[in-house]
Amino acid sequence: MAPPRLLLASIHDVSPRFESEVDRLMQLLQPHVGNRVAMLVVPNHWGDAPLIAGSGFASKLRAWADAGVEMFLHGYFHRDEVQHAGRWSRFRARLMTAGEGEFLGLSKHEAQSRITCGKTLVEDVIGHQIAGFVAPAWLYGRGAEEALSDGALPMAEDHWRVWSPTTGRTLTRGPVVSWASRTPARLLSSLAAAAVLRHSPINVMRIGVHPPDVRHPRVGEEQGYC
Ligand SMILES: [Zn+2]
Repeated sequence: MAPPRLLLASIHDVSPRFESEVDRLMQLLQPHVGNRVAMLVVPNHWGDAPLIAGSGFASKLRAWADAGVEMFLHGYFHRDEVQHAGRWSRFRARLMTAGEGEFLGLSKHEAQSRITCGKTLVEDVIGHQIAGFVAPAWLYGRGAEEALSDGALPMAEDHWRVWSPTTGRTLTRGPVVSWASRTPARLLSSLAAAAVLRHSPINVMRIGVHPPDVRHPRVGEEQGYC
């Protein structure tokens, strides 16, 4: 008999900019997973959507955290504003992340500062410790990896695994299914990948949903699966 499959659902890009989309994603997910959802919080999305302690959105986050939703720090600004030196880094930054891999090219010092500031702000808002860190677009440059290994965060994740940044130990493996719905072509390829993965022998299924997903009716249907 196949072992039970563990479903880990996360909402990415949780920011006051996407307040109504985050509400909608919670409505879609809660019938399936209750409050066993992770939220990936961006302290200041693109530098002009700051999370402000005491705001209505901050109170919502605190209520969700009180109800058991796990809060992760998800970059600081989310957008990648570094001039990448190598050709491979430029390729990864531009084509694979649509310019959203904030932690790909940061120095250790800069990565540390953003993680520390972001952690303090989010913990102040939610009144709990954060569960860990997820880099925007799941992309970690060397500086980010060094900053994390020196820090005290219990968990980090990328496309393929969840690990403890302090010990380097892998906590779980398995790809993340996400719906990259920024363009119609990406939407279709994401749906195809999601369909394949659903039928594969993976024990830990991680799904990541993003605010723009709720603007695509087809993605809303797919999410009915979990
Ligand atoms: Zn993101």
